[in-house]
Amino acid sequence: MKIQCCCEAVELEIASEPVVQFFCHCDDCQAVHGGAYAPESVYPADAVRIVRGEPKSWTLKRNPRFFCPECGTKLFIDVLALKLRGVNGYLIPKDEFHPQFHMQCQFAVRPVGDELTHFKSRPARFGGSDETMPW
Ligand SMILES: [Zn+2]
Ligand SMILES: [Zn+2]
Repeated sequence: MKIQCCCEAVELEIASEPVVQFFCHCDDCQAVHGGAYAPESVYPADAVRIVRGEPKSWTLKRNPRFFCPECGTKLFIDVLALKLRGVNGYLIPKDEFHPQFHMQCQFAVRPVGDELTHFKSRPARFGGSDETMPW
């Protein structure tokens, strides 16, 4: 699958199925995306290649986030400790984005009412506690 930023200066090629897809409510994502929460589609880092353009990167705390220097589209975050690359879910075709849960809901701006699980931090399989919100 190939995806582009808004101005098409940057193109990414994704060569695997996602490891996981979710909505992240953490305060980093809120600050960087300027939204209440962010859709994420996560892949093994080496399965997401930049095939056109030169994204710039910027690190808020720990992990670098990459964006198009022309149009400002947020592209992906490298989760260095886990060797994962989290592509912004709004770049993925809608029929390929199947979020499995919400996470970091302790930071949520507002409760979200849907049928997915709402983890307070992260699911246990990604280093969290499996604790959920009472929504
Ligand atoms: Zn662009
Ligand atoms: Zn986040």
